Amino acid sequence: MSHNDAYLIVNAGSSSLKFSVFQALETGGLEAVFNGQIAGIGTQPSFQAKDAQRHVLADRTWSANEASDRPTLLRFALDWITERLGSARLLAVGHRVVAGGREFAHPVLVTEAVLEGLERLVPLSPLHQPHHIAAIRAIRDLHPALPQVACFDSAFHHDMPLAAQTYALPRALTDEGVRRYGAHGLSFEYVAYRLRQIEPDLADGHVVVCHLGNGSSLCAIHAGRGVDTTMGFTVLEGVPMGTRPGIVDPGILLYLMREKGMGADELEKLLYHQSGFLGVSGISNDMRVLLESDDPRAAETVELFCFNVAKQIGAMAASMGGLDAIVFTAGIGENSPPVRARVGAKLEWLGVKIDQNANQSKAPRISSASSRIPVLIIPTDEERMIARHTARILGRAVDGASATPAPKA
Ligand code: AMP
Repeated sequence: MSHNDAYLIVNAGSSSLKFSVFQALETGGLEAVFNGQIAGIGTQPSFQAKDAQRHVLADRTWSANEASDRPTLLRFALDWITERLGSARLLAVGHRVVAGGREFAHPVLVTEAVLEGLERLVPLSPLHQPHHIAAIRAIRDLHPALPQVACFDSAFHHDMPLAAQTYALPRALTDEGVRRYGAHGLSFEYVAYRLRQIEPDLADGHVVVCHLGNGSSLCAIHAGRGVDTTMGFTVLEGVPMGTRPGIVDPGILLYLMREKGMGADELEKLLYHQSGFLGVSGISNDMRVLLESDDPRAAETVELFCFNVAKQIGAMAASMGGLDAIVFTAGIGENSPPVRARVGAKLEWLGVKIDQNANQSKAPRISSASSRIPVLIIPTDEERMIARHTARILGRAVDGASATPAPKA
């Protein structure tokens, strides 16, 4: 390996920790060199790493009687990564952090004060935030001098108009933080940055980006800035997802509490793990499986998803008062021609026309020449976005312009 500097990008969840390593190139670019994950934390831990060509570099599983708590696993991973980097120097660690609240509008270098700020935001993201904090603290304990940068999934939405941020609840609740923060911000930011590179005119217009994956949300982006988004206070709002329902009438929760005696834990399980594609189809949370199934419930689920995505594209366009392009990204958005075709067909009244061949072959532009609205596929890369932020926070030059114009003075 060369003598380049490297960045470690970490996405820490409850039972897994995904990582990617980028090397800084002389040109100012960043090259993804390897990635991997620690999985099964708390049950049967394993460590896997692959190079950029997806060749397996490491694969290890711990048996139940071996010491394998989170810090031990992290130490193993960091040692492996450092050794693999050889003479390349690990410059910093960039973390994906789900909740930045009103406090964090931009990525920040982690300090004790920042960690305290992240702790205060735990109630906003109880399923994610504690794991981000645990990973940051564990890495700090192992390598106290290694700079760490927190990159927020909510930051891209931080400056949405007040109306897009506010629930019509008593003001005191809004003031204490019950408001719409959105998610997938690092993905939207990356897509906006790529759009500016490949279609600068469109990037100046009104763009709806559809991040459709296991979790899905849409974002209204005007001239590179987030104007509205479908996820809100938590990752439950918006369109139906793998195991989450998207928007439901809150009256349903009252019904379930009163009539079925359900408590918070049961409701959490229902809303995070038992609904969405899985709940409706009774078959799978995976769009691939549903598209291949001939069970009518699978077809119904696909239709429910496409209906809601098309509906929210309309809502996002209305939020920003225009529509100049639609972009699909993430697992389903990038890889599923039937879903894109079906969503496109529901928008024909808007002048959207999907070119079947381009759609099948996953061309960068899948709309036909006569489509009033261009429809594109831009593969997302949240890790690269975090690596770019991390490099910039460290004062390193990074190629290309930021998707978001510099904050107003
Ligand atoms: P993500 O969360 O972005 O990794 O997306 C994961 C989801 O993408 C999976 O749950 C699948 O439902 C979906 N997916 C991946 N590949 C395909 C494909 N070829 N066709 C349809 N859906 C796909």
